[in-house]
Amino acid sequence: MSGGKGIRARARAGAFGGHMWGRRWTSDLESGVTRGEAYLARKAARADRVLSLEHAGRSVRCDVDGSRPEPFTVEFTFAPLDAADSDALRTALRREEGGVLGALAGNFSDTVGFLLLPAVHGDTSYSCRCPVQPGPCLHVLAAAYIMVEWWDARPDVMFALRGLSAEHLGAVLRGGDDDEVSVDLEEALWGTEPVLPTVPSPQPAGLEDLLDAPVTRRLAAATTNDPLEQLRVVADLEDFLDAFGRYRPR
Ligand SMILES: [Zn+2]
Repeated sequence: MSGGKGIRARARAGAFGGHMWGRRWTSDLESGVTRGEAYLARKAARADRVLSLEHAGRSVRCDVDGSRPEPFTVEFTFAPLDAADSDALRTALRREEGGVLGALAGNFSDTVGFLLLPAVHGDTSYSCRCPVQPGPCLHVLAAAYIMVEWWDARPDVMFALRGLSAEHLGAVLRGGDDDEVSVDLEEALWGTEPVLPTVPSPQPAGLEDLLDAPVTRRLAAATTNDPLEQLRVVADLEDFLDAFGRYRPR
């Protein structure tokens, strides 16, 4: 029960997460518990009792400090986007001012957020190894609050959780119907019909050029007014572009 050794919640009061889609998602989970239980879960998140957060594929696993010596493990699993939502997402992303890179850096409208984050009751599957089942329990809610704050900092993860890794995102954008599309993401980004018109074409001279581009700074500025946060956005983008730099179509 000792607090203070887990992931630090940013929201010391009020709602968790800075976006409508995140708040809608936690509200949906809260609809399955009493107000008192939701209060205790918020308190647990703020007492840093979510000890860990691990992401793999479409799942997130958190250990949450509970009433027993060993923490309880909470696991969320997100469904892949279905065809209708893929269509809607493709349309929405094409309307986004910052394009795909902007969206991956968190510069996307609530429409995209709502599509990525299912929030109708029962859409999010979760489990907890505590005795309060079927839940949602305090541990699931506390982990959900920390996850929403994590998505604020790592919006790219929201795409990954819906099965939209870099290669699949390319398929969605190109409107491919095939399940297994060999996606040429370089073509999507730098090719003759780039999704992002502001990206140098046909090949950037180097990542440095891309990162120095005014578009990157504008992107960071659009995401947040905090200069430190802007630096972090650029750093995240750098990681992302670095990963892209290593990607080669098979
Ligand atoms: Zn539990």
